[in-house]
Amino acid sequence: MTKTVLIVEDETDILHLIEWHLKAEGYTVLTARSGIKGLDQATEQCPDLIVLDLMLPGMDGLEICKALKRNPKTENIPIIMLTAKGEEVDRIVGLELGADDYMVKPFSPRELTLRVRAILRRFDKEMPEGAKVQYKDLSIDLDSYRVWIENTEITLTVTEFNLLLELLQNRGRVRTRDQLLDRVWGYQFDGYARTVDTHIRRLRQKLGEEYAEAIETVRGIGYRFKE
Ligand code: CA
Repeated sequence: MTKTVLIVEDETDILHLIEWHLKAEGYTVLTARSGIKGLDQATEQCPDLIVLDLMLPGMDGLEICKALKRNPKTENIPIIMLTAKGEEVDRIVGLELGADDYMVKPFSPRELTLRVRAILRRFDKEMPEGAKVQYKDLSIDLDSYRVWIENTEITLTVTEFNLLLELLQNRGRVRTRDQLLDRVWGYQFDGYARTVDTHIRRLRQKLGEEYAEAIETVRGIGYRFKE
C-alpha cells in the first residue's frame, strides 16, 4: 500500500523539490502552503507522515505540532520538522513537541527522503505472527504495534513504541542514547541525544507511574529497563 506524506511548506521551490523526490519514491503526496491548511489536511486525510516547516505564515510549525499532538486522531502521525539555520533547534527537540526528527535548511532532498523512508519502515518491520513481549501487566503486540497495560490500550507513536521495545527486549542492560538513536531512529543524527530524552519523557507519561519507574535513567549514559 502506498504511504501518504503531507508537506506543509510555504516556499514553493522547496515544496516542489520535496514533492518531486517523494513522488519519485512512490509516495502519495499532499501539500499545504499555510499552517491552517496543513492542519486541516492532516486532520481530514490522516497522512502517514508530515513534513512540517517551522516558519509558516499565520500558524507556525510549533503551533501546528502542538495542535496535532493534542488531537487523538493525529497525535501518532510522525513529524519531520524543517528549520532554517539559526532557528532555535532546541525548542523543537527540547520542548516535548513530539517531532520525530528535523532537518536544517538547506538540506539534501535525498537525505530527507531517506529519513521519511526510515520512519515509515518502522511500521513495516516483519514480525513473526502473534509475537508478543510481556512485562508484568504490560503487553506489547509486535504484529499490530499495540500496547496494553492490563486491559487498557496505551497509544504510542512509532518512535515511543520502538523505544519501549528496544529497552524491554534488553531488560537489565543499559542502552546509551547513541545506541537508542541508532536502533530506534535507524541512523544517528549529529549529537541530538536530547531527542531521546524528550521521547523517553513522553513515553513515561503515557505508561503511568509504575511502568515509568521501570525505565531507569542511568545518569550520563542512557536508559535501562528494570530487570
Ligand atoms: Ca517557511
